[in-house]
Parts: sequence; structure tokens; C-alpha cells
Amino acid sequence: TAKLATGWNFDNSYVRLPQTFYTKQGAGPVQSPRLIIFNDTVARELGLNTEELNSDAGAAIFAGNHIPEGAEPLAQAYAGHQFGNFNMLGDGRALLLGEQITPEGERVDIQLKGSGRTPYSRGGDGRAAVGPMVREYIISEAMHALGIPTTRILAVVSTGEAIIRETERPGAILTRVASSHVRVGTFQYAARWGTVEELRALADYTLERHYSHIKLDEHRYRSLLEEVIKRQASLVAQWQLVGFIHGVMNTDNMTLSGETIDYGPCAFMDVYKPGTVFSSIDTQGRYAYGNQPYIAGWNLTRLAESLLPLLHEDEDQAVQIAQDAIFQYSDLYHQAWLSGMRAKLGLFNAESEDETLVKDLLETLEQAGADYTNTFLALTFDKTPHSNLADLAQFKEWHTRWQARLERQPQSREEARQLMSNHNPAVIPRNHRVEEALEHAENHGDLSLVEKLVEVLSNPFDHSIERSEYTEVPTTCDPSYRTFC
Ligand code: AMP
Ligand code: MG
Ligand code: MG
Repeated sequence: TAKLATGWNFDNSYVRLPQTFYTKQGAGPVQSPRLIIFNDTVARELGLNTEELNSDAGAAIFAGNHIPEGAEPLAQAYAGHQFGNFNMLGDGRALLLGEQITPEGERVDIQLKGSGRTPYSRGGDGRAAVGPMVREYIISEAMHALGIPTTRILAVVSTGEAIIRETERPGAILTRVASSHVRVGTFQYAARWGTVEELRALADYTLERHYSHIKLDEHRYRSLLEEVIKRQASLVAQWQLVGFIHGVMNTDNMTLSGETIDYGPCAFMDVYKPGTVFSSIDTQGRYAYGNQPYIAGWNLTRLAESLLPLLHEDEDQAVQIAQDAIFQYSDLYHQAWLSGMRAKLGLFNAESEDETLVKDLLETLEQAGADYTNTFLALTFDKTPHSNLADLAQFKEWHTRWQARLERQPQSREEARQLMSNHNPAVIPRNHRVEEALEHAENHGDLSLVEKLVEVLSNPFDHSIERSEYTEVPTTCDPSYRTFC
């Protein structure tokens, strides 16, 4: 059968949730779908037949023109705080095809993004452009290779249709794989518009799907909140450690699974500067690099509020439980960040002055306008960092202090170097490289630079590969660089 040939193995648990959480709907066909990206590795992990799908037949599926057997397409309902303002949202340009059960027995969402209008589209056209969809592919592959939890891209098709943005742009549909699309905003939606029973159904669903080890806890909703807080604290710490800026940390873009989701205007920071913002729509800097840990805490507080009716039958006690859980967040984040920073500096053990050591380095980087990634690389391999930094008396003093700190731990310098090289990536998706690859994809239909870039980014901790053209920072770093969704 077709099912056996392609490897689709759907079991759709989301449609078994109360109806309020979704609207069933098909995708409108697009003109001439062409498969421009097919992620072989992901396809294989999903148990899909790569030969059958890396084809025109696959393009038809990834365009929504042909719905594979067992899929039950639906648009998910959710709400969200967008830049602090609460709105009813929902999948305005996405469809959940269904949940693929992988050969390993894992359940993952298969979602089309850019597949057309839904009841949640509001004013939007339901469509997506090639550039941003390919950006999502590049950055999510880079994040995965860096070991950071993330949704993945299975495929991107160009639709052969133009869409209207600032100008006419070629249209695209992306196929996203996620451990689920349950968001903080899904809980906000349930809390605001659902019954308590619907909210409970969503919480039980999330426990079953992502936290089954605590689903039998006596206070399972409190445990759920605590576990999500742990995963998000760890996730955002990992973002900070590599200089990733999400760009739209609205509550609808934060998952309960702890995966990074929704790569809109995201980008990596070059020069270390906490105020760095790339997104064209983030005019106030709400989602600046240095704000991300606070915003995650803010979003988790919205989750805690949504869960109140489940936390305790007495409202005051529910609030107390929520506050206690939220109170843990900053410590959890801080510990995750500090231990990551210790590894970046080759430190195996903990000393009370370590945080000062880290902060002094970062302050010096900022003062010198030094590149974040490349400075840590220089430190790893005992190379002289960029002259602006190396010439600073403050940096020389810091370096002496750091050397003394390394001497005080029992591990050898070689062991420290190994630890550092495992935590300081040789390559990140540099903005100018990403733009160059996207430009070729969008304007010339040439995906070769994209594939080359993804290949280069696939082994970020292998320092033996020569790829200096991808590690160099442009001599004049463009402070006006902006990204669009
Ligand atoms: P995002 O900022 O990508 O998380 O999107 C926020 C909300 O806007 C979600 O409900 C999206 O589905 C919706 N949205 C974004 N772009 C479009 C579009 N072109 N058409 C319809 N809805 C959209
Ligand atoms: Mg979103
Ligand atoms: Mg988006």
C-alpha cells in the first residue's frame, strides 16, 4: 500500500482532545510545488521512505496537495501574549497533518507551515515566503547540531506562487517536525476560553506526551509546571551560551516540551552586546539577547497563571504553589548558565569567584566590541583574540586571573582545552553567510549555498575542519542588520 511505501505511520492524539482545541481543515492546493529541501536524516529518523518522498510525489505531500493516508489535518487553537499584549491567535498559516510514530516509538507532530488560510488567519494570507522558511531550516539544523533542543525541518517546497510582502516574494511551505506544538499559549487559550475540564484535559495530554514519568505524581499539575520551568530554564541558558537570539519570544512561541520553536526573525549575535536585537518588528528591544532569560520567566509566569485552577482548589493556595514554582526559575536558569560558562572557560569545579570571572570577561568583550564566538575560540586554542580586545589592559588582567584559576584545578591544561573545545563552537550561522545563502535561494532558486552552509554547521565542535570563510566576521559588522518573519 501507499502507506508502506512512504513509511507514514500516523496516530493522531490531538484530535482526541476536546474540540475547542482545533479546527479540522484541509490544505488548499498550490500551483506547482517543487521540493527545494528534503532532510534525509530527519526522514530516516521518522521511518519514512526517503526515495519515495524525495520526489514529485513527496513535493505534493509537503505542499498539502496530497494528504497522506492516516493524516487528519487540523489547525490548532491557541492564544498568546505578543510583545506583552494578549490575543487570540491559533494556526493562521499552519496545519498539523498528524502525529508520526517513529520506528523508535516516539510520537512527533508533522506540521505544514505556509499552507494557506485557516479560521485563525485573521488578516493574514496564510502563506510563507521561501527566504524565512529556508532560514528556519538553516538555523534549526544549526541548533540541533549545537545540541540544543529544537523542532526540525523535514522539507521545504516552493509553491510556484508569488506572495505579497514588502515586495512580491516566491512562496514556500515548510514541513516541521516537533515533539509537539503545545505552547504556553495553548494553556492560556484553555484558561481564558475553555472549561476547567478542558484545561485539565490539555494538562493531562501534555503530561502523557512529554512528562509521563510524573503523570502519576500526587500533585501532577504542580510537577508539570516545575518540569516545564526546568526545561525552559535549561533551554534559554543554552541559547545565551551560544549567542542565539530568538527574536519573537511571544508566549505562543514557547513550547511545553522545551524545544526551541518558531524561527522567525532569529539570528546569532556576533559582537557581544546584551542589547542586540535583529528583528525588524522588535522596535522596543523587548526580545534583545540580554532580556531573553527574563522574558522566559515572564512567559512561564503566564503558564503558571493558566494552571491555577488545577494547582489547588483553594485559590490562595494555588497562587502560593504557582509562586513557589516560578521562584525556582531564576536559580535554575542561573545555575544552568553558570555551569555552561564554566565549561566554556575550561573549569571543571566551582569556585565562588567564577561568576565574577565570567562577568568581567563579558564586560570586557562588550567594551572592546569583540566577537562573542570567536573570542571563546581564541581562548580555547590560546590564540590572540581580536586586537581591540587583546590590547585592553583590562583583558590582560582578566587573562592572568583566568590562567591562575585554571592552575588551581586538578585537571591538566589539555583536559581544560578539551572541555572548552566541546563547548565553544567553531562555527555558528553567521548573519552575512545566512543572508547570502537565502539570497541565492530566493532570487536564483539556487539552494547550493544553503546546503553547503548546513553541512558546515553540522559539526560545530569538530575543530579539525578547515572552514575559515565561515568563521570570519565581516570587518565592518553591520549594526543595522535586520531580520523579517
Ligand atoms: P508568529 O509570530 O509566527 O508566531 O505568528 C503569530 C500568529 O500570527 C500565529 O497565529 C500565526 O499563525 C499568525 N500568522 C503569521 N503569519 C501569518 C500569515 N501570513 N497568515 C495568517 N496568519 C499568520
Ligand atoms: Mg508562532
Ligand atoms: Mg512565525
